[in-house]
Amino acid sequence: MVIVMKHHASSEEIKYVMQHVESLGFKTHPVYGEERTIIGVIGDERPVEPEVFDLLPGVERTMRVLKPFKLASRDFHPEDSIVQINGISVGGDQVIVMAGPCSVETREQLMETVAAVKQAGAHVLRGGAFKPRTSPYAFQGLGLKGLELLREARDEYHLPIITEVVSPTDVTLVAQYADILQIGARNMQNFALLHAVGETQKPVLLKRGLMSTVEELLMAAEYILSHGNQRVMLCERGIRTFETVTRNTFDINAIPALKSLTHLPVIADPSHGTGKWEYVTPIARAAVAAGADGLIIEVHPDPASALSDGAQSLKPEKFAAMVDEVRRIAQAIGRKL
Ligand code: PEP
Ligand code: MN
Repeated sequence: MVIVMKHHASSEEIKYVMQHVESLGFKTHPVYGEERTIIGVIGDERPVEPEVFDLLPGVERTMRVLKPFKLASRDFHPEDSIVQINGISVGGDQVIVMAGPCSVETREQLMETVAAVKQAGAHVLRGGAFKPRTSPYAFQGLGLKGLELLREARDEYHLPIITEVVSPTDVTLVAQYADILQIGARNMQNFALLHAVGETQKPVLLKRGLMSTVEELLMAAEYILSHGNQRVMLCERGIRTFETVTRNTFDINAIPALKSLTHLPVIADPSHGTGKWEYVTPIARAAVAAGADGLIIEVHPDPASALSDGAQSLKPEKFAAMVDEVRRIAQAIGRKL
């Protein structure tokens, strides 16, 4: 942290600020310039809010020099982290595809979808059993029955499954069925839930909140990492902006920004990122071109009768075509799918 003193700060004020900072366990390094004095604060500044120093006499402003996240930071861990999921590596050369319905609705719907997405080359089956819906009157998911159907699909098609957990008290149950725990956008800052998944050793896909910055996403990841679970993947799924043509605004910038700030794998969700099936394939292509380590795509055999997110779900044949296109983009940038 750097404390910039006011132009006319007195030597007593400078001394007082240095003594105060040192009393908190930091070392200080003053630089006496012609115009003003700057005090370098040496030590791990993360637990301290820099604004508190602005209250001291003679201080103009205080600036952080370290990022507020540590375990998630590439400074701390320069190599890419590879998350292993039943023999699939996420975060290396490979671009992976997770696909399936928004919600598990019936055995027939799930089995038809898993057969199609596996055939098209998906690596992981997605499907919601506990659904965080904006309306309490909307379909809330099949719960335990949905988890059982996912297990059946997993065993029959040998695909790992990802499913959302919405409550800290459900983590143990969902972890018995899921290969990857999904934390949804609405729960990105549910710190009790982040703590609970941090105590498991299950891979976690942490989705960016609807109104969250990239830094807030990384701070949320920091909760999971700091509770002992290093198997974290991040997901850009679109943010809320003034635009209404699409459901959310997929933040393509977040992909290279995250790849540069963190070592954790980055997955793109163009289904929620756009909300319209017609835009899913173009944004999937763009996300892989931008460096995403994987995609998560909603697929439904009959989107018109889906109980959630039909408008953004691809039919199986459109999904297969998308995988082929994205595969060629991955190859063009030296990766494989
Ligand atoms: C989902 O994956 O179906 C979902 C609810 O996503 P999000 O949390 O990104 O809205
Ligand atoms: Mn959905």
